[in-house]
Amino acid sequence: MHGTKSEYTRHVKIEMLNRREYESLLNSGKVNLMDDSYEVNEFLPAPKVLICGRCNRPGHTKKYCQSSAFDICRRCGGDRTNIQAHKSCIVKCHHCGGEHEATSYKCPLISDFRRELIKQLKNHPERLPPQVQLFIPSDYRNKKDEARTIFSSRQYDSGPYQKSVNQNYYDRNDSQARPSVAPAITTDTTSASIQSELNEKIKSLAKRLEDVEKSHAAEKEIINLKYKSHIAAINQAWVLMEQGYEIQRKMISKTNVAVSEIMFDTGLLVTEDIYTTVKNIKTALGSTEFDQTIQ
Ligand SMILES: [Zn+2]
Ligand SMILES: [Zn+2]
Ligand SMILES: [Zn+2]
Repeated sequence: MHGTKSEYTRHVKIEMLNRREYESLLNSGKVNLMDDSYEVNEFLPAPKVLICGRCNRPGHTKKYCQSSAFDICRRCGGDRTNIQAHKSCIVKCHHCGGEHEATSYKCPLISDFRRELIKQLKNHPERLPPQVQLFIPSDYRNKKDEARTIFSSRQYDSGPYQKSVNQNYYDRNDSQARPSVAPAITTDTTSASIQSELNEKIKSLAKRLEDVEKSHAAEKEIINLKYKSHIAAINQAWVLMEQGYEIQRKMISKTNVAVSEIMFDTGLLVTEDIYTTVKNIKTALGSTEFDQTIQ
């Protein structure tokens, strides 16, 4: 953002609800709206001072005010109980007598308080929540330390966008003040930034390709291993089947041998027995009736 104290702006403030979307938007540095690409920067608020609604002094709220028993007009410094009477009263600060409202940063009382607050935050950035960054208005930067931002020293992974902060002081007390309309970047820097953006894209694509290749190789390896183990399993099954078949074959042939031996012997014995018996009967009966049956 390139806001100044006097020029108009084409800046649009977008508030994001999703932290991840916010980060990816800032890290990409661009947003596409209706076929146009726009530059994106983080808006960093300047530290605001809590000012009492009753006495117009900084550092406490109306609820805890011990400075006044009634609401003081920030314009004229009078009793503001009748609000209607203070719509167009004379502006004269009741803190310092200056020609500004009592709650304005132009007032030394408010401004000194704010300066002290910024100093405290600079010295103790760990008191800020990890995701909070604050912008230091130029008037509040000291000569030695030109830092434009305060951010928490606590660990927070917010990506690379934090370094690219480039924000100017927007004067809140000047109702005419608008941030700059001037194009923030010239053609040269545009082509350079497009170039670097392209380089970034190429790099990230190359990286992705590499990743895909790696995972492809890994998957191929897994498939190979699976294939090999399948083949081994099939071979083993085949060997087992063959062994089974062989055993069966042996068993059958053994059985055949056994059966034929037994059957032959038994059959022979039975035949002999019958022959002997019939012969005996024949002799006993003196008959030739069985001669045809027994040969
Ligand atoms: Zn007060
Ligand atoms: Zn007044
Ligand atoms: Zn004042």
